[in-house]
Amino acid sequence: MRHVLYGRCVRCGRTYEAVPDLVNCACGGILDIVYDYDYIKTVLTKETLRGRRRTMWRYRELLPVEESTAPTPLRVGWSPLYEEPRLAERLGLKGLWVKDDGQNPTGALKDRASAMAVAKAREAGAEVIACSSTGNAASSLAGNAAAAGLKTYIFVPSRAPKGKVAQLMTFGATVISVQGSYEETFELSKAAIERWGWYNRNAAINPYLSEGKKTVALEILEQLDWQVPDYIAISVGDGCTIAGLWKGLKDLYAIGFIDRLPRLISAQAAGCCPINRAIEEGADWRPMEENTFADSIAVGVPRNPDKALQAIRESQGLVVNVSDQEIMDAQQLLGRTCGVFGEPAGVTGTAGVKKLCEQGLLGKEDTVVSVVTGNGLKDVANAIKACGEPIAIPGTMDALLAAFAARQVVVS
Ligand SMILES: *Cc1c(COP(=O)(O)O)cnc(C)c1O
Ligand SMILES: [Zn+2]
Repeated sequence: MRHVLYGRCVRCGRTYEAVPDLVNCACGGILDIVYDYDYIKTVLTKETLRGRRRTMWRYRELLPVEESTAPTPLRVGWSPLYEEPRLAERLGLKGLWVKDDGQNPTGALKDRASAMAVAKAREAGAEVIACSSTGNAASSLAGNAAAAGLKTYIFVPSRAPKGKVAQLMTFGATVISVQGSYEETFELSKAAIERWGWYNRNAAINPYLSEGKKTVALEILEQLDWQVPDYIAISVGDGCTIAGLWKGLKDLYAIGFIDRLPRLISAQAAGCCPINRAIEEGADWRPMEENTFADSIAVGVPRNPDKALQAIRESQGLVVNVSDQEIMDAQQLLGRTCGVFGEPAGVTGTAGVKKLCEQGLLGKEDTVVSVVTGNGLKDVANAIKACGEPIAIPGTMDALLAAFAARQVVVS
């Protein structure tokens, strides 16, 4: 990889050759992949991008893969970025865009990391990949691996929603549903991976994964024709996604594609916000209970706090914690105003933007991109809880008229 220099520990600075099965530093710190931007500038221009296929692999010069590594089979990336003037007006913003990453092949931003895991597993000559996950890392890995002909072992906490488990089973993964927290699930997967030597797709151990996730930032900026928004909002669990987002932005700045950096908005659930609490307190993070229905960000012991905290601090970011009710409200708001259906963790960034607008911390001077990180169809039970049941009647006009009258529905 001519364009990649090495992996560097975010804690102690030690560097490692960028081999395909790179894991954490001996000190326990996670590695960051360091690029040769001077070289990349000579091979990647805005013009070279124009004719390329619309997948995350269009940014290959900024991705840690060998020149000879084939793109993974599923169409990951190039999800739509919608301009939302009506929602912007409602919230009192100058401009608002919604990046619907629930449109990825398995319905979540995690597809970007899992496609990278599959590409690196192939480079490593591995035939089996494993991970533990609150759900989306698992389903995206199972799908992307199935398409590439690789076998998967997946560990999920038993609370994972049915939609995600259905995906896993359909994609043919060997699924272990662990009766315990995400923390316990993670530890068991770690022990199993060590025991059987599977390729490791666990968050915050494999440093290539957030390099896949960063493609969401590259796309947002390309879709905005390199016009930099003031803020990008995203939900945070382990912290890999927001760290990847920031890495992508810094890459673009380093190669001169953009001339300033947006500020990040880190949105967490009020019932589980160890990263945001650390920012608010200006202190180290401490574990928290996993007290939210937004399962994908119910992470009491974040796996990537170092990179996430660094990203939020470096960007002079804002942090915002939202209640489950506020998440449900945002889910409906996005659905009704934009036609975008996100899962609870998927819409938490938008819930955060709404709250910051209400608090006067964002306003009519500001342009904001809100990333929807997962599709609402993954968790229909919670969507129905938030939005209510339909009008249920026998199939007659009399029953319809009676139901409308009873509910005072004005038919237009
Ligand atoms: C995983 C996930 C997140 C958070 O990503 P982290 O890397 O854990 O911070 C947010 N939303 C959805 C839908 C996810 O699946
Ligand atoms: Zn180290």
